[in-house]
Amino acid sequence: MPLTQSILNILREILPAQRPISLHEPDFGDAEKALVTDCLESGWVSSVGQYVDRFEQSLITYTGIPHAIATVNGTAALHTCLILAGVTTGDEVLLPALTFIGSANPVVYSGAVPHFIDCEAETLGIDPQRLNDYLTDITEQRGNTCYNRSTGRPVRALMVVHVLGHPARMTELAEIAARFQLVLIEDAAESLGSWRDGRHTGSWGQLTALSFNGNKIITCGGGGAVLTRDPELAQRAKHLTTTAKQPHAWAVEHDAVGYNYRLPNLNAALGCAQMEQLPQLLAQKRQLAEDYANAFTTLDGVQFQNEPADCRSNHWLNLLLLPDREQRDQLLNVTHAEGFLLRPFWTPLHQQSVFNNAPRMKLPQTEDLFTRGVCLPSSANLRQPHTVT
Ligand SMILES: *Cc1c(COP(=O)(O)O)cnc(C)c1O
Repeated sequence: MPLTQSILNILREILPAQRPISLHEPDFGDAEKALVTDCLESGWVSSVGQYVDRFEQSLITYTGIPHAIATVNGTAALHTCLILAGVTTGDEVLLPALTFIGSANPVVYSGAVPHFIDCEAETLGIDPQRLNDYLTDITEQRGNTCYNRSTGRPVRALMVVHVLGHPARMTELAEIAARFQLVLIEDAAESLGSWRDGRHTGSWGQLTALSFNGNKIITCGGGGAVLTRDPELAQRAKHLTTTAKQPHAWAVEHDAVGYNYRLPNLNAALGCAQMEQLPQLLAQKRQLAEDYANAFTTLDGVQFQNEPADCRSNHWLNLLLLPDREQRDQLLNVTHAEGFLLRPFWTPLHQQSVFNNAPRMKLPQTEDLFTRGVCLPSSANLRQPHTVT
């Protein structure tokens, strides 16, 4: 039997009969309806309200990171992180080529240039050894600043992404950021509920961004958050995302050109209900990943992406690697014809027309994963909820 046919049969066995089955769908219950209704009835639907504070507190409690500032989306959260990291016009920011374009766009909003780094197969995140060798080769330290010797630009920050929810190698990457004097930012948009060495993703970076878009593990409809351990950065994040208005009983004065990036209370109400569901959703997604892993280990020619060692992943999107691009495309065609809406990886950022001229290292692992990888349907509701203790 051709490989793609065997994979199709496994999907038919594992997934429910109803079609189409999309890549990732949100899951709402009674709590969502109750809290959103309560928010509507309160009249406080916009940028001020108790649900925003409650949502932020639930993120703090869950992740163990002491400050959270809710924003309109993950892109706005990352933009805020970059500004607070001191990233400015003419800087470079290091980030993986294998990520959603929402990681790189805010680098450009802040006036900087994205500089693309290769990933490794086990974590899908930045390869620390190769990053270290590359920076040793192409940069020099002058004072407290790292410079790219060929472009002459300061390299200000390292943005690590936890791709598909799998934690990147944070101990090594944090060491590299310190060695080269780079601000460490974590794009944890896909990794709420993912842990490494018992620490939640986002715990290493000076600044971290989350996303609550409709396709993420939990959603506010749209939403994001900045997380940080630093109380001063937290205070500045709150100020910058609320139009930099100075606190006053009645005067309306702003001490900077700020941003209207505050999460509306209505979206936060949905987020509060989703946070209550998170343990349940994670358990369902873990079960689905296990079922995929068991089915695909007996099939020659494919490789299912397991969670990295010493990690607990949220299994946001399940990844299957095929032998080559031809079979990947064949699988995408046959599964779509049956209503299984599988997707390839995002086209790597260095191959997107807007970033054609961006600096980069050699990216063989990124290109290999892109040409062979397929994301499988991964919604939590593809598995029955069971009691979580
Ligand atoms: C979703 C996502 C973003 C952007 O978040 P939005 O809420 O959609 O703006 C950024 N980075 C990564 C890795 C993402 O997956």
